[in-house]
Amino acid sequence: MSDKAQYTPMMAQYISIKSEHQDKLLFYRMGDFYELFFDDAILAAKLLDINLTARGTANGEPIKMAGVPYHAAEQYLAKLLKAGMSVAICEQVGVVGESKGPVERKVVKILTPGTLTDTALLEDKHTNRIMAIYADKHQIGLAYLSLENGDFKALQTGRNNLAQELTRLTPAEILIADNNQYLPEIPQPIVTTRLNSWQFDTDSNFTSLTEHFETKDLLAFGLNKEEHALAISAAGALLSYIKKTQSTIPAHINGLSLEQTSHYISMDAVTRKNLELTQTINGKTAPTLFSLLDVCATHMGSRLLANWLHHPLRQHEELINRQKAISILLNQYTPILNALKPLADIERICARIALFNARPRDLATLRDSLSTLTQLQPPQNHTGSPLLSSLFTYFPQGETIAHLLTQAILPEPSIVLREGGVINHHFNAQLDELRAILNHDDQFLADLEAKEKQTTGISTLKVEFNRVHGFYIEVSKAQSHDVPAHYQRRQTLKNAERFITPELKAFEDKALQAQELALALEKQLFEELLQSLQQYLPTLQTIAKAAAQLDVFSALAERATTLNYCCPNFVNYPEVSIEAGRHPVVEAQVTQFINNDCSLNSKRKMLLITGPNMGGKSTYMRQTALIVLMAHIGSFVPARNVTIGPIEHIFTRIGASDDLAGGRSTFMVEMSETAHILHHANEHSLVLMDEIGRGTSTYDGLALAHAIAKSLITVNKSFCLFATHYFELTQIPEIYPTAANIHLEAIEKGQNIVFLHHIEAGPASKSYGIAVAKLAGVPNKVINDARKNLLKLEEASRPEEPQFHLFDEKETESLPIETEENLVLNELHQINPDEMTPKEALDALYKLKSLF
Ligand code: ADP
Repeated sequence: MSDKAQYTPMMAQYISIKSEHQDKLLFYRMGDFYELFFDDAILAAKLLDINLTARGTANGEPIKMAGVPYHAAEQYLAKLLKAGMSVAICEQVGVVGESKGPVERKVVKILTPGTLTDTALLEDKHTNRIMAIYADKHQIGLAYLSLENGDFKALQTGRNNLAQELTRLTPAEILIADNNQYLPEIPQPIVTTRLNSWQFDTDSNFTSLTEHFETKDLLAFGLNKEEHALAISAAGALLSYIKKTQSTIPAHINGLSLEQTSHYISMDAVTRKNLELTQTINGKTAPTLFSLLDVCATHMGSRLLANWLHHPLRQHEELINRQKAISILLNQYTPILNALKPLADIERICARIALFNARPRDLATLRDSLSTLTQLQPPQNHTGSPLLSSLFTYFPQGETIAHLLTQAILPEPSIVLREGGVINHHFNAQLDELRAILNHDDQFLADLEAKEKQTTGISTLKVEFNRVHGFYIEVSKAQSHDVPAHYQRRQTLKNAERFITPELKAFEDKALQAQELALALEKQLFEELLQSLQQYLPTLQTIAKAAAQLDVFSALAERATTLNYCCPNFVNYPEVSIEAGRHPVVEAQVTQFINNDCSLNSKRKMLLITGPNMGGKSTYMRQTALIVLMAHIGSFVPARNVTIGPIEHIFTRIGASDDLAGGRSTFMVEMSETAHILHHANEHSLVLMDEIGRGTSTYDGLALAHAIAKSLITVNKSFCLFATHYFELTQIPEIYPTAANIHLEAIEKGQNIVFLHHIEAGPASKSYGIAVAKLAGVPNKVINDARKNLLKLEEASRPEEPQFHLFDEKETESLPIETEENLVLNELHQINPDEMTPKEALDALYKLKSLF
């Protein structure tokens, strides 16, 4: 594609535009099609399953071409963006035939996976985000933006936390600098877009951010130039990218805030996955906690709920405020959910207004939604919840906007602006005049028809109009030879002839001109309307947020009532006490769910859970974590009574999964996750450990499991549910009083087994492995052999010589590897002062101190 001279003028134009958008697919508008050429065509043909053809030649080779009709482009664009592509849309902006060469064309829009706002291209219940990342030796700076609601945040954190932040925020696209050597690896399949490294320069980004927000510095947003240089670099790069792809920084991006991760309960990537918050382990959307709780009436509500589930709050006051709002709605959610149901996606419409690409129907549904919200009555006793009350103070602010839209937009505007029929009557005098001319059509045509019928005496004569042929006088074939001489033939049909007369032609010209003028005027008025709506964006965003919150509160009130949930109590001392708790998702799937208690406090921090496979250990552990998590989004919870003290983190180590793509075996994955927990869990953590040590040999696994449990008790001092199949571990409570045994019961009926799913105190008495194997359908012959083997093994394991007491502290304490000095030395060995922030260094110091 080097020498332009060998191409036709149009191809030369294409190549020049494409050269500025090398990394994107160029949709080049030609008449009713978007065409793609060369490699773009080959790729698009493959991804979209469309025909690959050719148009002309270059260097003697045919130029590959593929195209999609412009009116159906949306579905093709959706497919390409899903596949991670970015697309530049190049339109004809000049008038055809006006210039000598090809009609003038320009890229008017760039679509990238992270910057979409078009509902047709987005998932309704998922917040689409774009993120920029910049790293130095110690830390990463993140900035993320949701173009659909204007939320723009930045944060700075340790390099190791990247995976955790990515699962929390699930960005659709990540911006990185092309030579950022310290950037941790970004897991596939997130789309990454490389920018020039100068675009992440802190000084120039600091300037561009302060200029954009019209502030002297960024302190009001919580960002300090020295301390948050990386976050500022990322935020500035992100904002310039928006400007480049959207040709503007939309007005609804009106602030930036430094995210305080300490505000939320932290959960690592594995925990979010294991708890199946918004996705099942297999990547499905149901059954999950979200699919169970999401009875929201609007997509805005659903997206907010999903967001809350990934951002449980630590502050009890905020949670109590949410609880109060839900309590008031308990018996009053139905009218509110019903009223919210027809609401438009105000959030996304705001984004399209800000980007000047809202459509007529967007404004009509916005108008109707604002009117609905203005009329929405607050529930009884709403003053009992200041938070709930405050939501109802925002809705009336939409009245002015609804009024403007009612005046400006027809009750049922047409779908596309270019067809007209959008702007309301009496909104603009000139438009009314032009429309009057057009509306005169009917009378003029009826009069003309009557007159011509009379003068010609032709009874079948009709005056009509169609889009293709314009106005005409139609006469049946039989009478067509009777028409007067000034009738000019326009078209011959099977049974009729169509004519035009100078009088009708003159009318046609006037009408067409009026129509053209009216269309142009409507377009102009619509653009002016979008312009005048810009000032209302902050109000609209506030209303959208308030509607979403009201929706979530109502949905959670519905769930609390329908599913019989209770309101958890928060206390400021260490406690997780659950009376008659249930697993919210499993409960919905079994006919009878057995509820269970859970009691953790400063004297009872670890529960060692034993019992048969399938007995309900995992379910019990997860239900505890889910109840704690639900409580921290402000929701009611599936239990009779719940009291919870301060919780800062939830960690889980559940299930065995090979990370083959990452080249790690099951055991390696298990140990990496465990290492992460042992390094980060503290007294305010809730830790779930399921079957640790399973992936290696029995003694190895047992030894590790014991050492890990001991560390969790003595070093991390976390609340911990520790399920294990190593019965030897049930001796731990004898040595460490903050640990206790609980077990799940099963009873054998004949050679079958019945799971009671009920938690009892003390260790389990027996392994039911063989009975479970039988239940799973292992052939009887094998089961019988196994029973015989078990008998033999049990006999053989009653030797006379003394057994090795793995957990006899006197013995084990004397082993050099267990001494506290060694623990400290080990810990010191792992520390790399060059890679620590001052906060991490201080934490490490505390940890070292705690090892003695
Ligand atoms: P384990 O971890 O002990 O192998 P699970 O927790 O996976 O057992 O439970 C196995 C199955 O038993 C679950 O899929 C669920 O159907 C059922 N189950 C577990 N706990 C309960 C309960 N409390 N009430 C009713 N059914 C339960």
